[in-house]
Amino acid sequence: MSAAGSFHRLDLTLLKSRQLYILLLLFIVCSIFYYLGEIVTFSGGAKSFFNGVHDVHRMLFIVPIIYSGYYFRIKGAIIVTFAALIVFLPRGLFISTFPDPVLRPVLFSIIAGTVGVLTGLARNTFERSRQLEAIARNERDKLLRVLETMEDGVVIIGPDYRVRFENPSMSKEFGEGIGSYCYGYLHHRDEPCGDTCQLKAVIGGANRRWEYSLSDDRTYEIVASAIIDSDGTSCMLAVYRNISHYKWIERELVKINQLKSELLSNMSHELKSPLTSIKGIVTSLLQKDIQLDDDTREMLLDGVNEETDRLGSLVTNLLNMSKLEAGAWKPEKETCYIPDIVDEVLKHQKWIHMNHIFRTDLEPDLPEIQADYGQIRQVLINLVENAAAYSEEGTEINIRAEVVDNNIEVSVSDQGVGIPSEELGKVFDKFYRGTQKRRDHGGAGLGLAICQAVIHGHDGRIWAESVVGQGSTFYFRLPIIPVGHN
Ligand code: ADP
Repeated sequence: MSAAGSFHRLDLTLLKSRQLYILLLLFIVCSIFYYLGEIVTFSGGAKSFFNGVHDVHRMLFIVPIIYSGYYFRIKGAIIVTFAALIVFLPRGLFISTFPDPVLRPVLFSIIAGTVGVLTGLARNTFERSRQLEAIARNERDKLLRVLETMEDGVVIIGPDYRVRFENPSMSKEFGEGIGSYCYGYLHHRDEPCGDTCQLKAVIGGANRRWEYSLSDDRTYEIVASAIIDSDGTSCMLAVYRNISHYKWIERELVKINQLKSELLSNMSHELKSPLTSIKGIVTSLLQKDIQLDDDTREMLLDGVNEETDRLGSLVTNLLNMSKLEAGAWKPEKETCYIPDIVDEVLKHQKWIHMNHIFRTDLEPDLPEIQADYGQIRQVLINLVENAAAYSEEGTEINIRAEVVDNNIEVSVSDQGVGIPSEELGKVFDKFYRGTQKRRDHGGAGLGLAICQAVIHGHDGRIWAESVVGQGSTFYFRLPIIPVGHN
């Protein structure tokens, strides 16, 4: 039903086509012209002239044959050629007195038919290539519309190194580049990139993937393959993905891994050395065959005591750090009086660092603040321990506290080695250890990081000032919040 319907439609369009009527007209005119001699003779006109030029008359049929080949293609050319042969035959068979009266029209039909078929073929090929071009243009437009919306940068480069297309992301990353040479636009060069240039290989059909880093730390992963542009030119389509962030993460992971290995070896060393000393001392004390006098015994026990403190402070710092990292060391604020915390810390520290001179300068009538007593005590312990560790015995360690701009400012100063100015900004970083070495050879680079995390957790501020060779002062400020407003 549908096939018959479509045939009917085809018929109708053919009947409606102007070209069909022109063809019929041409054919009829040629046929009349072909038999003009006979018509003239029949009507009593000059006979010899019109009868003598039949070959010329026949030549006119080339017009409808080519016309039908052009408009109705191969089939049309064949049908019109056969129709022409049918017109030629009565003359050849019954009228003509010339030699080979059938052979010549047949030869003409073959040649004219071939020309008509070739015309049809040429028209078909031309139409097909036009259709293909239109499809290609349409597909390209669709592709470009997709590329326009892509988040990655996309660029199409011709074999002449000229940028033919770039999407908005590409313009955002590299600026406007259409029409410019790719080596100038992408690489800021005056000539092609030589061996590193992938253009020729990609246009030749190879798919390529490579990375490209710019001096400003941007890194792109580029994937390129060939594309035929609407004008039929083989070009390179390259997608630029900005992978700077992944590269940064990769570098950070490498750093973290290095840090982890350093930390492990550092921690093992930090834990092992006091344990080795303790083990050595205890072994000496246990040796029954060696008699130790009281002074030596006391010195050895002092050693055990010191090493145990070192171990204790290291483990405390490690535990506090992991609690802070896990967010489990939140300040539990209560009403605190800073001089009480200073007193408690100094009571213990004076005993540990007997050979340092401790001084305090606490403003009278300091207000009470809302803070986590245990955490602030830990901050003071870490600062005082550092002050003692980075200064010679016999030098002073000064603890001051005063009110500054509605804050309580506490400072711990020493007369020790000091901190080079380029390290001052880094001393509060986790696991950072400066070039200055502790007297007790311990430390894991955690003490100040913990201080900073605690003070920030109290909405306070911590910083250091130092002069190499003269000493350092560590300050922290805690806001004075009226009771009931925490
Ligand atoms: P560490 O365990 O190495 O002492 P900290 O976090 O306590 O770790 O300190 C970090 C770095 O800051 C130290 O390695 C040291 O270089 C420097 N530092 C800290 N306190 C002082 C100080 N009072 N005097 C000189 N340098 C100090």
